[in-house]
Amino acid sequence: MTIESPLEKSPVSLFTDASSRLEMALKYVNISEDALKRLKYPKASLSVSIPVRMDNGSLQVFQGYRVRYDDTRGPGKGGVRFHPNVSLDEVQSLAFWMTFKCALLNLPFGGAKGGITLNPKALSRQELERLSRGYIDAIADFIGPDIDILAPDVYTNSMIMGWMMDQYSIIQRQVSPAVVTGKPLMMGGSQGRNTATATGAYYVINTILPKFDQLPERTTVAIQGFGKVGAVLAELLCKAGYKVVAVSDSQGGIYAETGLDIPNIRRYKQQSQSIQELYCNDTVCDIVEHEIISNEDLLKLDVDVLIPAALENQITAANAEQIQAQYIFEVANGPTTSAADPILEDKGIYVFPDILVNAGGVTVSYFEWVQNRSGLYWTLEEVHQRLKERMVEETEQTWNVAQEFSIPMRTAAYVHGLHRLGEALDAKGTRDYYQNGNH
Ligand code: GLU
Repeated sequence: MTIESPLEKSPVSLFTDASSRLEMALKYVNISEDALKRLKYPKASLSVSIPVRMDNGSLQVFQGYRVRYDDTRGPGKGGVRFHPNVSLDEVQSLAFWMTFKCALLNLPFGGAKGGITLNPKALSRQELERLSRGYIDAIADFIGPDIDILAPDVYTNSMIMGWMMDQYSIIQRQVSPAVVTGKPLMMGGSQGRNTATATGAYYVINTILPKFDQLPERTTVAIQGFGKVGAVLAELLCKAGYKVVAVSDSQGGIYAETGLDIPNIRRYKQQSQSIQELYCNDTVCDIVEHEIISNEDLLKLDVDVLIPAALENQITAANAEQIQAQYIFEVANGPTTSAADPILEDKGIYVFPDILVNAGGVTVSYFEWVQNRSGLYWTLEEVHQRLKERMVEETEQTWNVAQEFSIPMRTAAYVHGLHRLGEALDAKGTRDYYQNGNH
């Protein structure tokens, strides 16, 4: 994947863009040269081909990846994405973000990510199961409960995580629940994992907006992406009194100035699959006046809060100038390019970064891993309470770093994460240590 470069006209890779955020943070954190050198490269990358017997008898070979970016603070951790745009560059970028996300939330994990290049909607359930198991066959030596732990991401769900855990257990000849998180409850999943990313984002929003005296009933919200995260977050915000005026999925979106009836839209979307369809010819049309909008229109709406909750590279140098929202909470990974950052900053827009806002998912993944290893399972209330504590604590700490140096929250989040990563890397020995002194 290539995107526009802030410095030159030629496009740069997603990873080049992602890692440029590291450079921004360096000015504000005391990190050794050695630690920085380590963080510029992924620890290990694996590309595999996965042969799958299709339902019609033919054989199709899929391309899969797993990248372990860093494991200084603990085993690699990160999701597996099924999407037509999956590439090694994208998976490496996502693994880089996971490294900083886990450090920022102080989870004892490094960062990793996986993916398979495919359109999952074109496969039958049986084909998806064979592909998921085939992926584990191909990467089994590269992962493990103490090496690298998988989880859901775009277009993967708890069923798929269950197949992956089962396949790993078959290979190992022992039940190994802790190698995958986001599993079905009955296979060792955690309460609250399905809704964890949305719930975590909700805690961040509720910690941040009061600092600006922005009350829910006076706050309009637009959400791009109405999947397992965007739709749940829309409902949480709606119930808390926020006015969600626009939502969209990959097919397009809807807008109503007076606010949308999110619980109803969720119900109808489950039946009809796409937001536009349900709004054009279903009874939801009667509930509130609405307008059909594109995904691009949604980003430019005059709302208080904009929540990109779909894919990367949505807010770029090409459209940042037209963004009207006052606050952006990044629920997707990498929705804003580095070239868009200064434009948004100049416009006085506050951007709350992905590695903080969407970290609820991996935080409850950590809780699931802990429960699998201890054999003691928590209630939904316990999960929510611990999630809230951690999200609020790290949001406040990141906020304090931003205030201390007068820097944007994204840079503050990298400073905060980098500080922990640097300390962990330096604990193994620094240049100073080896050059000066005998013991
Ligand atoms: N895929 C999610 C993310 O990007 C969750 C990762 C995990 O739970 O390990 O944060």
